[in-house]
Amino acid sequence: PLPQGPLGVEFNDVTFSYDGDQATLEKLSFSLKPGEVLGLLGRTGSGKSTLARLLLRFYDPQQGTISLSGTNIRDCTLTELRKHVALVTQNIEIMQGTIRDNLTFFDNGIADETIIEVLSELGLGAWFDALPEGLDTMLASGGGSLSAGEAQLLAFARVFLTKPGLVIMDEASSRLDPLTEQRMEKAVSKLLDARSCIMIAHRLATVQRADHILILEHGKVIESGRREEL
Ligand code: ATP
Ligand code: MG
Repeated sequence: PLPQGPLGVEFNDVTFSYDGDQATLEKLSFSLKPGEVLGLLGRTGSGKSTLARLLLRFYDPQQGTISLSGTNIRDCTLTELRKHVALVTQNIEIMQGTIRDNLTFFDNGIADETIIEVLSELGLGAWFDALPEGLDTMLASGGGSLSAGEAQLLAFARVFLTKPGLVIMDEASSRLDPLTEQRMEKAVSKLLDARSCIMIAHRLATVQRADHILILEHGKVIESGRREEL
């Protein structure tokens, strides 16, 4: 039931507790229109990553509803949900296999030229040109000889190629040097054009591209608004 293209997000009075006692998220409500970028800020332990996990249904909230473009995510299969919602975290999962398979998840419909174009937009062009076997180059499980930054950029490339309607980035650029991060931000702006995005960060400066900002403290929204208002 999820539409193609950018997804709207709606949290309606969502309360969640890991232990059934203390609420990690409490009566959380917010909405995001299709194509918008939300900057989600808050101190360590405020519940940001928990919110992301609920969106992917690693856990279900005890109260409240989460919808994507009007569809309650409880009415989606997990496969469908996770095809439409991508989570990019600091722990990148590289599987043993070719670069092509790692980037497309075996979707044969994605052309090699498209993959190479995305890699070059992310600033991995020179890295790619130096590979002995191009897209057929094998990667080891866990990434092996890749640097942490390269692995992170590949994770982004994967997101861009599989075209989810919502991308959640959980402090996803923390392993990149400033120059690479800058270059990536540019590529991200362009590539996220047709997607909704939730960017999780600790600092306002990290989420310059956000249309809306939500600040969490102890699982509650303490501030929200357009970026320039805060
Ligand atoms: P950070 O900025 O450090 O990533 P965060 O805002 O992402 O923090 P969460 O990871 O959502 O914070 O954690 C919110 C609260 O829930 C914390 O008190 C944390 O200890 C607790 N918590 C997180 N994961 C679990 C878990 N699997 N089981 C029990 N409690 C958890
Ligand atoms: Mg976190």
